[in-house]
Amino acid sequence: MFNDLKEKRVLITGSTAGMGLAAARIFAQHGAKVGINSHTAQSADVDAILTELTALGGDVAFFQADLMETSDCEKLVQDFVAHFGGMDILINNAGGLGGRENLENIDDAFYERVMNLNARSALMMTKFSIPHLRLSAAESGETACVISTGSIAAREGGGVGAGVYAASKAWLHDIHRNWVKEFTKDNIRFNIVSPGTIDTAFHDGKSDELRGAIANSIPMGRFGRVEEVAPAFAFFASHACAGYITGQILDVNGGQIAP
Ligand code: NAD
Repeated sequence: MFNDLKEKRVLITGSTAGMGLAAARIFAQHGAKVGINSHTAQSADVDAILTELTALGGDVAFFQADLMETSDCEKLVQDFVAHFGGMDILINNAGGLGGRENLENIDDAFYERVMNLNARSALMMTKFSIPHLRLSAAESGETACVISTGSIAAREGGGVGAGVYAASKAWLHDIHRNWVKEFTKDNIRFNIVSPGTIDTAFHDGKSDELRGAIANSIPMGRFGRVEEVAPAFAFFASHACAGYITGQILDVNGGQIAP
């Protein structure tokens, strides 16, 4: 179904764990050239991931970059393009809660950490990638694309203490619509995969009792699995599947909330 992903050059930020790694697996399985990224490089882990993804059929390379830093965003794009000769697909997946704070305790440092991790990182990654995506579309005659990982929190405000995180994801959902207006002429598409509650390290620290209560609030009665989210990235990335789809948000949340 995603056969046209073969040989496509895809950079996935935040992809040594969780949904980013699951997305990297599906692209590797379809013969893509995959750049994986993390802010840290624990070599044993990275080596194992590279071995696994290569065995699946991908041409895979790891790039360490802390996307909280704009200079690292620029270098990541440069390094990826130098390695693979261009870029066809950017997936802005790196992100996280960045801590919980009630409104009355929020200071500038907290605000900047959460916004930089989830919003500025995607903004800068997209900014530096645009010239390469534009070139990809012009040379291939197919659309290039940016996919960002949003969140159900963007739609419903997030849990107590996670308001800035939720707002950062709503910011991302919204700015995609602006980018559609600016870059559709360049044949670049922009779409969001918006997960609900997915079983990753994101939920580390929650008690079994809390996890059970959350699961019971989901119509499907359970957390999602990373491999249940990954095909949504492949769908948006495939020109054959989604060449006429841009500016959309795909919720993958077990029915947790109606869009
Ligand atoms: P995860 O913690 O399993 O993986 C996060 C990945 O991002 C890791 O590879 C980590 O190394 C990387 N990363 C973290 N900070 C980074 C930085 N500064 N620079 C570069 N890489 C960095 O998380 P996950 O649950 O798979 O989350 C992936 C995305 O999905 C995030 O944007 C998150 O906000 C979003 N999300 C998660 C859920 C959920 O329930 N798990 C729900 C909605 C949205």
